Amino acid sequence: MSDETTPICSAKGCRAPAVWVLAWNNPKLHTPERRKTWLACDDHREHLSRFLGVRDFLKDVVTLAEWESRPSGE
Ligand SMILES: [Zn+2]
Repeated sequence: MSDETTPICSAKGCRAPAVWVLAWNNPKLHTPERRKTWLACDDHREHLSRFLGVRDFLKDVVTLAEWESRPSGE
């Protein structure tokens, strides 16, 4: 479980392996097609999704495996 390449949850203070990718965009800072990503473990997916959702920033929530299997440059 201490694989250095394992992505870690973005929640503050959390060291759990990430399972989810939250793709988001702040229209005041980013062009519409730009995607920022946060990583989340199972415990923090809902918390982080809500944080982004109330700001209307959240675009997509997918599993890390699905995110990584997506073709880049989409
Ligand atoms: Zn977490």
